[in-house]
Amino acid sequence: MLCVGILLVLVACTGDPPAAVPSSTSTPTARETTTAPPVADTTTPEPTQSVGGDDVDVPLSTVPATPTPTTTTTRTSTAATHTKTPDAVYPPYAQVYSYAGYTPRQTDTEPWNLMLLNTSYCLPEDYIVDTVATENGIKIDRRVYPAYKSMSDAATKEDISLAPLSGWRSLAKQKTNLENDIAARQQRGLSRLEATKQALTVRQIPGCSEHNAGLSFDILSLETSFDQTKAYQWLDAHAQDYGFILRYPKNKVALTGVSYEPWHWRYVGINDAKKIKASGQCLEEYLGAMNN
Ligand SMILES: [Zn+2]
Repeated sequence: MLCVGILLVLVACTGDPPAAVPSSTSTPTARETTTAPPVADTTTPEPTQSVGGDDVDVPLSTVPATPTPTTTTTRTSTAATHTKTPDAVYPPYAQVYSYAGYTPRQTDTEPWNLMLLNTSYCLPEDYIVDTVATENGIKIDRRVYPAYKSMSDAATKEDISLAPLSGWRSLAKQKTNLENDIAARQQRGLSRLEATKQALTVRQIPGCSEHNAGLSFDILSLETSFDQTKAYQWLDAHAQDYGFILRYPKNKVALTGVSYEPWHWRYVGINDAKKIKASGQCLEEYLGAMNN
């Protein structure tokens, strides 16, 4: 079963986190398909974040020239603590940034809909997403698409568009985005270490993003003001009925390690989405409650 990890442990101090050894069924599900040309991640950047982000494909020219405040200890501390877990699996590809304090362990990929991905948990390197494209060419895990389609159709009947801006993102692209960001900051005079630390405040380590698993959509906007729109209000009222949750709520930043992202909706399945919505918990809290 999934381990929630130290994000919760730090807050709840409930004892040793359970092991997160991948189950024997965590083999790749299928091969990625190429049913549509990649269109993802061509959106405008979101505002500067102070904690962490998952959706920032910022053009190099817009990378902040001034160092961001070093208020990102959540990530570093959680990663460091995880190294104390004896039976954790640490995929080598995700350890590239250990020099900056990030040593994510491999997540349990079953049940797939409740897969935990955050600063501390990443995908197995050989995990393959079987994608299908939405009507506007955004790829997503094939198993998620029917739920999204139903939700989108229901919203459309109320003249609300839930067009996604991005969905699945490859590990290669995740790494390219991060490395480009690091390089740009180094060009401005930062050391590799400092550049990496700063870049990881606005991007995820390859394999740690829910977009790498194809389980999440960014819908319509990458601005926090999205929560003032009819589309957001519709999602807030109905998304759980289709199996989606707001993954990074405003009041859960300390637990998710990611700043408020009203546009990022994660598929977890209808039953769990309804429970999560009713509980007011974030996914980390919910999975912790299931394991206690
Ligand atoms: Zn996102």
